[in-house]
Amino acid sequence: MGVCSTKGFLNFNSDLLDFEKDVGDYVIVHELLHFFVPNHGKLWKSLMRAHLGDYEKMAEKLKIAQTSSQFPANEENA
Ligand SMILES: [Zn+2]
Repeated sequence: MGVCSTKGFLNFNSDLLDFEKDVGDYVIVHELLHFFVPNHGKLWKSLMRAHLGDYEKMAEKLKIAQTSSQFPANEENA
């Protein structure tokens, strides 16, 4: 998904285009911050919050979107 790439350039899966705008923002800011902060430590978290606000909600949405596209099981009818 382009998240946590440490190669110094960005490559995003085209699936990203289907996501809501805030989820796209989350992925982009997440990656950009890794140019300055190589981990998910306190500094990274406070920068995420400064740029995005409630970024944890966005992360959760992204996780759900990734999970449902990788495992398209129909859990609603389960
Ligand atoms: Zn990361």
